[in-house]
Amino acid sequence: MGCMAERLKYKFLEEEKMVDIVVGPDAYKDLPNLLKQAESNREAVNVILSKEETYGDIAPVRLDSNGVSAFVSITRGCDNMCTFCVVPFTRGRERSRDPKSILEEVNQLAEKGYKEITLLGQNVDSYLWYGGGLKKDFETATALQQKTAVGFAQLLQLVAEARPKMRIRFSTSNPQDMSLDVIHTMAKYRNICNYIHLPVQSGSNAILKKMNRQHTREEYFELIDNIRKIIPGCGISQDMIAGFPTETEEDHQDTLNLLKYVKYDYGFMYSYSERPGTHAARKIADDIPEPTKKRRLQEIIALQREHSELRTKANIGKTFCVLIEKSSKKSDEFWSGRTGQNTVAVFPKENYQVGEFVDVKIDAATSATLIGKAIGISQEI
Ligand code: SF4
Repeated sequence: MGCMAERLKYKFLEEEKMVDIVVGPDAYKDLPNLLKQAESNREAVNVILSKEETYGDIAPVRLDSNGVSAFVSITRGCDNMCTFCVVPFTRGRERSRDPKSILEEVNQLAEKGYKEITLLGQNVDSYLWYGGGLKKDFETATALQQKTAVGFAQLLQLVAEARPKMRIRFSTSNPQDMSLDVIHTMAKYRNICNYIHLPVQSGSNAILKKMNRQHTREEYFELIDNIRKIIPGCGISQDMIAGFPTETEEDHQDTLNLLKYVKYDYGFMYSYSERPGTHAARKIADDIPEPTKKRRLQEIIALQREHSELRTKANIGKTFCVLIEKSSKKSDEFWSGRTGQNTVAVFPKENYQVGEFVDVKIDAATSATLIGKAIGISQEI
């Protein structure tokens, strides 16, 4: 089941004959029917991507949950067509989930004792509910529907006000869709974490264009400046691809310079590799030699590591509200949790408990972790 099954359906069913049924990401409701087909020895496949399915009525079973933080899906699919990305083909058109069902899920989680939720989608800032959630049909909605539509800033506000004692995060943001409204809403509510994962993928306008990203380097800088101005101290992380087809040394330098400008807290960095079925795989030759890709990636990673260290070390002496999630991997005598800026913090357990918000004074740091001591239960949330 799922998007990989959908992508590899012929291999699974015909070449390897590994399975009897292939169920695409949105076809779970068809399972009884598919089982019947498989029982009568017929090939059972449903990989049709739905335009409406948001899994809104499904209460997920949270098998590996720590009982403290949970993901809540708010959108499915993506209407952007970044040339390297397989999501638009495997997850379908962008559609948003009814805010009522989102709030119900958040309330259920709060009642079960969860302390933090992450509103999740491929492109959360593009969230839009107008009585229906299919983004591409918004223009044909009635005037009243358009006027009363709920966008991402309003959804954030709804959730923040409904659950003031819960910490709220969201992921992933797309630079061209992140509005000033969202940034102001984050600044207004203490329980919305000051952290944004803001993939950029490249610092070069030429490469951004080849990637079909809908933002320029300059627009990205403007967004970063606004975030820093409206939410001082906001944590920001990135996704970056090194060695995208046609990338020159100059393009790569643009990426390094962008990193130097933003000085992200951390990032997820990869060298380019083709994803079958994407526009880039079909139409753009993967022409950067592997050693060049690897060298550029190493330069990006090294620079990011410097910035991460700079950011964490700047926190020494400060106090942060940390939500305790689990025992530290390195020592059973320390708790591990995250600050609102999404940095991991560890500190002696004393009598504190998982799920508590505590103020932690930081007295040391590595490039990825803050180390400190709890000074009491936090009043921040
Ligand atoms: S990279 Fe993100 S925004 Fe671009 S198509 Fe993929 S999911 Fe959509």
